[in-house]
Amino acid sequence: MKKLNEELPIISEEMARGSTLKERDKKHLWHPLTQHKIHPEALPIVKAKGALLYGEDGKEYIDGIASWYTAMFGHCNDFILNKVQEQMQQLDQIVFAGFTHEPAIRLSEELIKILPDNQEKIFFSDNGSTANEVGIKMALQYHFNKGDKRNTIIAFENGFHGDTFGAMSASGLSVYNGPFEDFFIDVKRISTPNSENIDTVLEQLQGIIKSNKVAAFIYEPLVQGANAMHMFEAEYLDQILKICKENKIITIADEVMTGFGKTGSDFASDHVEEKPDIISMSKALTAGFVPMAVTSCTQEIYNAFLDDSVGKAFFHAHTYSANPIACSAALAAIKLLKTEAIQNKIQRIIESHKNFDNKIKNHPKIKSTRQKGVIYALDLNIEMDRYGKKRYEIFNHFMDRGIFLRPLGNTIYVLAPYIITNDQLEKIYHAIIELLNVV
Ligand SMILES: *Cc1c(COP(=O)(O)O)cnc(C)c1O
Repeated sequence: MKKLNEELPIISEEMARGSTLKERDKKHLWHPLTQHKIHPEALPIVKAKGALLYGEDGKEYIDGIASWYTAMFGHCNDFILNKVQEQMQQLDQIVFAGFTHEPAIRLSEELIKILPDNQEKIFFSDNGSTANEVGIKMALQYHFNKGDKRNTIIAFENGFHGDTFGAMSASGLSVYNGPFEDFFIDVKRISTPNSENIDTVLEQLQGIIKSNKVAAFIYEPLVQGANAMHMFEAEYLDQILKICKENKIITIADEVMTGFGKTGSDFASDHVEEKPDIISMSKALTAGFVPMAVTSCTQEIYNAFLDDSVGKAFFHAHTYSANPIACSAALAAIKLLKTEAIQNKIQRIIESHKNFDNKIKNHPKIKSTRQKGVIYALDLNIEMDRYGKKRYEIFNHFMDRGIFLRPLGNTIYVLAPYIITNDQLEKIYHAIIELLNVV
């Protein structure tokens, strides 16, 4: 099959007339997470391959965060590209209410193989936010269907679960939520646990359970991505999950960021003894090709929706549910994830981050460092606003050196595609060391 990507970049008529993408962008586009008054310009990217992004300006950038942890097998991966291309010629889209197709069936089988053993059912949606929205709605209706109406969700402080209303309610990062807080569903928060606060956190949890009707606990297992890659230990999460189970609280693991190899195993929940009732996933699920999400659950959850009454069914749908093209991308991605080659690359990145960390962790400009699997983060010893001026200076430090990293406040993190070369990884490390010497 023809390698489409080789023919890019395509020069459009407008480009040929000398009108740059940067100028045309400003006319009609509104970008996410962007204050357009301060940052009027977006950087046009015309092509991506492997770990590299190619700018309109002719520059190359190493994608150090795999485009928000999606393109873990490299951009425009040939294997995935061919599978997607084949699927596109076979079956593009079909209503998933009442119809089914092989890519969805096969994907459900492959996912169940790699998900924690208690997971049995696969529900499709479009993105990480909707995957969590589905999980929260499943949990609420689970209790409702059992005649035990519950209205409170527990979540971690500073968690991030997405930008739709349910997911946003569960998210504790106020920088995103301010104007909407009056409209949220009822969410109570507990701190993320550590060796010092675990007893207090468990007391907090027991207190909330006593004075509320708690339906579910939603959490990012072991790593809070948007919260500057904050990490915590599995043993403490286990204690929290055990108390939830004792109180018939549905546990929802948001694996949208951590899923598909990032923590060194297929899912972060693999490191935790107590398994979640519901798991949401997206991002690397389709390896950066097309948007899709999955919410998996146990047989016990699914059974609570089986009834002679239609009203007890789960009335949630998205038009593109289980889109066959997206399913084919996910199938190809899982196939790659399970290859020895990719597993070796994951181990190589883990080792490489460890060595780098040993080299720099005592640098006076570094406050602390942390690593889980291929996720590496360091906090600089300086106070900074999350979207302040200094943050953009650091962003530009890396971009000037051909590296795309996206600092979160004073945190710099690396979550590169598994296929990144050793040279490219060294370039990232080198740029971080250079930053430490000038910041
Ligand atoms: C990105 C992310 C989401 C939201 O996913 P979208 O696809 O952006 O809606 C939810 N939870 C976590 C942990 C994420 O990293």
